[in-house]
Amino acid sequence: MTAPLHSLFRPRSVAVIGAARRRGSISAEVFHNLLERGFQGAVYPVSARSAVVQSVRAYPSVEAIPDDVDLAVLVIPAREVLIAAEACGRKGVRALVVISAGFGETGPEGVALQAELVACAERYGMRVVGPNCLGVLNANPEVRLDATFAPHFPPFGGVAVCSQSGALGLAILDLAKEVGMGVSSFVSIGNRADVSAADLLEYWEHDPDTKVILLYLENLGEPRRFMETARRVSRHKPIALVKSGRTEAGRRAASSHTGALAGLDVAVDAVLGQCGVVRTDTIHELFDVGMLLASQPVPAGPRVAILTNAGGPGIMATDACETRGLAVPPLAEPTRAALREYLPAAASVGNPVDMIASATAEDYERSLRLLLADETIGSVLVLFVTPIVTAALDVARAVTRVAEGSPKPVAACFMGSQGVPEALEHLRQHGVVTYAFPEAAAAALARAARYGVYRERVPALLPPLSVDRSAAQGVLAEQLQEETGARWLSPERVRRLLEAYGIPTPRQAVAHGVDDAVSKAGRVGYPLVFKLVSSTILHKSDVGGVRVGLRDEQELRAAYAELEARLAALGRAGELEGVLLQELVTGGVETFVGATRDEQFGHLVGFGLGGLQVELLRDVVFRAAPVSADDATDMLGAIRGKALLEGFRSGPVVKKAALVELLLRVSQLVEEHPELVELDLNPVIATPTGAIAVDARIRMVR
Ligand code: ADP
Ligand code: MG
Repeated sequence: MTAPLHSLFRPRSVAVIGAARRRGSISAEVFHNLLERGFQGAVYPVSARSAVVQSVRAYPSVEAIPDDVDLAVLVIPAREVLIAAEACGRKGVRALVVISAGFGETGPEGVALQAELVACAERYGMRVVGPNCLGVLNANPEVRLDATFAPHFPPFGGVAVCSQSGALGLAILDLAKEVGMGVSSFVSIGNRADVSAADLLEYWEHDPDTKVILLYLENLGEPRRFMETARRVSRHKPIALVKSGRTEAGRRAASSHTGALAGLDVAVDAVLGQCGVVRTDTIHELFDVGMLLASQPVPAGPRVAILTNAGGPGIMATDACETRGLAVPPLAEPTRAALREYLPAAASVGNPVDMIASATAEDYERSLRLLLADETIGSVLVLFVTPIVTAALDVARAVTRVAEGSPKPVAACFMGSQGVPEALEHLRQHGVVTYAFPEAAAAALARAARYGVYRERVPALLPPLSVDRSAAQGVLAEQLQEETGARWLSPERVRRLLEAYGIPTPRQAVAHGVDDAVSKAGRVGYPLVFKLVSSTILHKSDVGGVRVGLRDEQELRAAYAELEARLAALGRAGELEGVLLQELVTGGVETFVGATRDEQFGHLVGFGLGGLQVELLRDVVFRAAPVSADDATDMLGAIRGKALLEGFRSGPVVKKAALVELLLRVSQLVEEHPELVELDLNPVIATPTGAIAVDARIRMVR
């Protein structure tokens, strides 16, 4: 049961439970803010001690209030919260903001108390923000709700903010006021007993005041739900996030490659990227990109034009753009010709366009118009250093005249002191975001451009891959019935499972004893690959258990004898359960495909270079399942050794479509069978015509 959040953001009336008279305490500040910011609804103080709070008649309990109450803000000791929450429930309150601390963050008793609070809220259909939070704020002039104890109220604008930490929330509201970032609403979710970041995304998705969503989170809460929601919302509203508290996943008890390779932060990065969430490292960067996306169009591509009146900053900006994945390409010839017509001979019309110190406001206006009209350009960065001749405010006016209504974003960086504060104010009021230094502007543009690339993608409709689910279920049921309950599937079951999901495997046969091997070799065909089968020996090569390219019966018999001798020498003769004969796959690149189940994120699918190189180079990338065709294509391009897939040094050019399809099939296999906790295909040999899994390990849990 989840009631909507409307009463939280747009309550008609608010009760402050625990409102205090004396300014300076948290409860007094919350009540003061509600009164002073111009809240458009009614506010009621509830106080057990005082009949009047800050000149307003107070009530001894929420139930004594004669009118309806939509939202109650609780600022009382933790042990009194439950009783107050019950009273709110009886009163018909729709939402609670519990600012009080002393809950889940304090230990087992607090955890239990928090659970009781949630249970109480559920009984009455109330939503809960917090506990242990800073509160909720809605800056829309028709609402002006400030149920926080923050000292500053931000200007109204298109940025919604969610902060897990209350302290950081205070800092964020301060900074918003300082840099003039317009906020639609703000929520500090604290211990997140009920309302989570995903809930807020859902609300802001349909909130007409909100254009961009900024999140400060220490963890993703319910990652799967967060992912699904973020993926949907980011298609039309950008989401940017700072995630701190990169808790180490700790040593994973994983016996295969995939589990050991996928760390928690890898998962977080992969998941956020897949959902179109822009990740930043600092709050400042979060604001930098948030303000750009809130007031300017999303860049169509990474190509930036730089317009400047000074060479040095132009070069700095160029470097900053290029190192962040933006391009500063030469301008189209017609643009250059048009610029040359009026700019002095000493000016440079390449990119950056350096109009030199004599540039006037009119030059800025004409040039910016030309750059925005250049079809090869996706965004423009305007740099201005105050010389003696030109007034900064005039240039700012010129810039906003052109930028307003432009379908391409303009970012600005005005340096110097003369007249700059007025210019910055003018730019801000007209929605052109300004940055103190070119690097910050470049970083924001680069992040916005990456978001643009994500959003432009046509959501890949996953063609339903045809698989044989009942065959797969049969294999897994057999495995479960086995008395020993071996966790690793036998080679034969692995093959059947992969086959059921259309994952290509080589022709193969399992044999017991040398004569059986010789007689089955005919089915596989020479030259062949010979491998030991053992449920206790996981890495076959380590014990000399793989022989590649046996050409005839004689070589096969010799290999068999050698294997027996080697195991005997190791004292492991009893572990030989049989041998696997396989078709030899030649002319390919060894890659790695794996899946591992993460407790929080569900299955992660990995791709990298295979064989030995997996462990040596750790050149593996991960995405959360379900993997889309776009995700899979991204994965192929994201490994450092991607050149090896494209005919590096006269090597084979592999068929990428086959690898993409194999990744999709693996993703579907683990999605549909959550009991498969580890799957390692290593190597998958990628050739110019296909991709074949020649070695596979699959582990399941009951
Ligand atoms: P393990 O990983 O247990 O040591 P593999 O089955 O992966 O054993 O074999 C080790 C190596 O032998 C592979 O990395 C690959 O180079 C090669 N190999 C294995 N099977 C084949 C095959 N069917 N065709 C070609 N090469 C193979
Ligand atoms: Mg292997």
